[in-house]
Amino acid sequence: MKAGIVSIGTELLLGEVVDTNASYIASQLPLLGLELQSVIAVPDRMDSLVEAFQQAWQRFDVVIATGGLGPTQDDLTREAIAQLLGEEMTVSPELESDVRAIFAAMGRDMSPSNIKQATLIPSAQAIPNPRGTAPGWWVEKNGKLMVAMPGPPAEMQRMWEVEVMPRLRARIPGDVVLLRTLKCFGLSEAEVGEKAGRVFGMGNPILGVYAKPDGIHLRLMAMASDQEKATALIAEAENRLRSTLTDHLWGTDSDTLENTVGQLLSTRHLTLATMESCTGGLLASTVTDVPGSSAYFKGGFVAYTNDMKASLGVDAGLIKEHGAVSREAAEAMAQAARRQLGADIGLAVTGVAGPDTLEGKPPGLVYIGIADGKSARSVEGRFPPRRVDVKRRAAVYALFVLREKLISSPS
Ligand code: ATP
Repeated sequence: MKAGIVSIGTELLLGEVVDTNASYIASQLPLLGLELQSVIAVPDRMDSLVEAFQQAWQRFDVVIATGGLGPTQDDLTREAIAQLLGEEMTVSPELESDVRAIFAAMGRDMSPSNIKQATLIPSAQAIPNPRGTAPGWWVEKNGKLMVAMPGPPAEMQRMWEVEVMPRLRARIPGDVVLLRTLKCFGLSEAEVGEKAGRVFGMGNPILGVYAKPDGIHLRLMAMASDQEKATALIAEAENRLRSTLTDHLWGTDSDTLENTVGQLLSTRHLTLATMESCTGGLLASTVTDVPGSSAYFKGGFVAYTNDMKASLGVDAGLIKEHGAVSREAAEAMAQAARRQLGADIGLAVTGVAGPDTLEGKPPGLVYIGIADGKSARSVEGRFPPRRVDVKRRAAVYALFVLREKLISSPS
């Protein structure tokens, strides 16, 4: 079945808001076996909306719209759907009491304009929205389906996951589509493509290779007549990829590197301390994105100047001899972080974020140091010299180095 997405809001066409709703929904439709054929952004104008809806309604079996369900005059999605179908909007008493209850729970009076959020047309059913005041609309007519959801991404995603996706799954016949993402670090996109391509000529699943901030992702999409067959297809392809990409693979699907290292540290009862120069705290911030990270993360230092590094126990003579951006400095920083906080493992980042050179070293050059009670080692990374990217990739690289250490040392 064919699907189209209509993203509503003048702010999208002014470039003020990025259309993340469309990319989220686009990533979900293959799971339902729906083929997305078009994404269109439409301003908050009645004529533009009706025209977009008319075309989408004609061309696609399923139309998914987001935005324009609010109470203001420029929120016109309901009006445009009503006009498209030639139906009249009326206030639903049940919806009205629901909307009033939401305002009462917030201790606020409902303003008269909110009443339009309680309207329906004969072909529409309301879709609950516990995260906001605007219910969605599920519209069915003449074998076609339109779903209108609110614009705020958190409201839309909850509505999609809990309400819309299950209803669509029950309604759409055809193949089961399964997705599986394998996450890889330490190889370029081309290297991954080559290694994967050599073992991969399967056609089903389809393989996609994507560069992401945390490495290269390989997405497998399998289609089969039932769940068991699709699962077997994915498993076979995954085994092939694992045999060639080996330790470069660090996670799957919703795994993050910070979660992965957090779990490894927890199960090994090890603690971590960090010292960062060029990442300015990004590594510690990423480590603490994981709930419960206080169980293994003792803390970290942003030691930006050489004086600060020295005051934390990094040998000033060593920095003078090798420079702050060096293997030696990275190892000494990792050791100093460990010592200062009494942690099992010290992890350090030093590098040239750019755009200028430092100590005659080029932007994008990074050293990661890692130390335990016995020894310290370091690795060099070279990243494209864009300041924000260098910082982000250095933090990710540090987590990857930590992961390698944790999986290679006995638990
Ligand atoms: P509300 O009841 O909050 O007014 P609404 O359904 O009318 O919801 P809009 O007013 O169109 O939604 O959008 C509300 C906000 O949601 C926008 O300012 C924007 O920040 C965000 N938003 C809307 N559409 C998108 C989109 N396609 N992608 C990402 N964010 C969006």
